[in-house]
Amino acid sequence: MNDKNIRKIVIVGGGTAGWMAAAPLALLMQRRNASPCEIVVIESPEIGTIGVGEATLPTIRFYNSSLGLDGADFIKRTQASFKLGIEFRDWGRLGHSFFHGFGDFGPRIENRSPLMYWQRLQRAGGMPSYEDWSTATMMARANAFVPPTAEANPLASSYSYAFHFDASLYALYLRNYAEARGAVRVEGTVVDVEQRPEDGFVAAVRLKDGRRIDGDLFIDCSGFRGLLIEEALGTGYEDWSHWLPCDRAVAVPCACAQELVPYTRATARESGWQWRIPLQHRIGNGHVFCSRFISEDEATSVLMRNLDGEPMAEPRTLRFKTGRRSKAWNRNVVSIGLASGFIEPLESTSIHLVQMGIAHLLTYFPSRGFDPVVTDEYNRMMRNEFEWVRDFVVLHYKATERTDSPFWNHCREMSVPPTLQARMNLFKADGRVFREGEELFTKPSWLQVMHGQRLNPASYHPLTDVVSEEEIAKFLDEVAGVIGACANAMPTHARYIADHCAAAPVGVA
Ligand SMILES: Cc1cc2nc3c(=O)[nH]c(=O)nc-3n(C[C@H](O)[C@H](O)[C@H](O)COP(=O)(O)OP(=O)(O)OC[C@H]3O[C@@H](n4cnc5c(N)ncnc54)[C@H](O)[C@@H]3O)c2cc1C
Repeated sequence: MNDKNIRKIVIVGGGTAGWMAAAPLALLMQRRNASPCEIVVIESPEIGTIGVGEATLPTIRFYNSSLGLDGADFIKRTQASFKLGIEFRDWGRLGHSFFHGFGDFGPRIENRSPLMYWQRLQRAGGMPSYEDWSTATMMARANAFVPPTAEANPLASSYSYAFHFDASLYALYLRNYAEARGAVRVEGTVVDVEQRPEDGFVAAVRLKDGRRIDGDLFIDCSGFRGLLIEEALGTGYEDWSHWLPCDRAVAVPCACAQELVPYTRATARESGWQWRIPLQHRIGNGHVFCSRFISEDEATSVLMRNLDGEPMAEPRTLRFKTGRRSKAWNRNVVSIGLASGFIEPLESTSIHLVQMGIAHLLTYFPSRGFDPVVTDEYNRMMRNEFEWVRDFVVLHYKATERTDSPFWNHCREMSVPPTLQARMNLFKADGRVFREGEELFTKPSWLQVMHGQRLNPASYHPLTDVVSEEEIAKFLDEVAGVIGACANAMPTHARYIADHCAAAPVGVA
């Protein structure tokens, strides 16, 4: 047993991030009998959670399965639906749409993505959309869903999926999980942070009712304000709003009015974009906008005019600044969730970044000595995670042909991070993309958004010349046929849910 082991972890904040951090830590510490570690989660009854965050990425499934969650039970308890990707409307230009589907394209040719070969043929004209080779996209078009299985046709099995869920129900679900494994929930509002005079480490937090809660490791999940990481430690924030200018969102749920589709929709508006996230019991909607180009009243009116069903609450405005905390981990405080930074929700990446914050924390879990070498490495990893996501999201704004509003003119003409500019230059040369290290978005994702946003490569990959045009056309045609037939043979999304994981109507336990 190591006598330098962390003996008490204090998580400040009981939103999605707080309970996502508590659940795996509780599971782990439950097993550490020889060297017990208390886990305390402080949740304020007065300060609400952000209350949005309903669309996820396929990586959420790794998180859920690492906890051993029962998939069907989780779906029922969180009113979840399945997500095969995002439909983007009016981004490249008005009237144009594309789909960013999860997973890969059909089988590779000579160890290269079939899309590289498609690019070659497409230059001669007459090719159908590249989307015909994405199983996730074809399933979305057919409004179909089944999870991929080992028995599926290998030509059409390379898709993946995530969930849409009610974020408050998900936090509650994880809270039950964590409490069942020994995490202790403390209801109270932190009003003061006590720091050690010798090194500024946080010694304890003090609650409004006078209680003092001490700890070895503090996890700041207090939301945008960053109660410990910023208000107490003054860590600093890297502002990225010159690359991602949207700074507000107005959100409202509405009743389900149409068929339950297995994807998120992101429709570009004059000064931002609108999300549509279908859950089993309602549709989540929001208008993300830039306050320099449109007022809150106008943004709200755009949202309310574009709902599919009756609104189920008053619209609510949220303010944010895109960027990241200069150091996610400072002294004995690790910030996770909105306290560590925020990249606007276009590609549903925040919960994934929460997950990465936790995963890296488990990898670089400290002892009470808090070796700065370990802390620095965590910070380097989290910087990468945030910057990779940032570049991918900025691409959607930059690569537009829209000239119909001052907002889109601004986005089209703005400079972008050099790392993104290099990727765009490479793609424009001959359609090549790359994946940096362990970055979240894979080559198929970059390809889909670059093509979808109508960036046109000047040439094609020279090594695709090893296969004749006739052979490529025959192969692509065959694969597209199989993918289309498989998608059309699947049950509808609603049918699959009704048969396997229908949630009880709201108000029925
Ligand atoms: C407009 C918008 C849309 C989004 N959409 C998505 C999406 O589709 N997908 C996605 O992955 N993410 C999305 N997100 C992000 C997602 O909502 C958050 O990443 C996620 O909810 C985590 O939030 P959090 O737990 O860090 O903060 P919060 O939900 O703000 O929770 C903060 C917690 O800290 C507590 N707290 C604060 N101050 C104190 C105090 N003094 N004392 C005690 N407790 C305190 C509060 O009570 C609360 O429990 C979106 C965010 C926004 C703004």
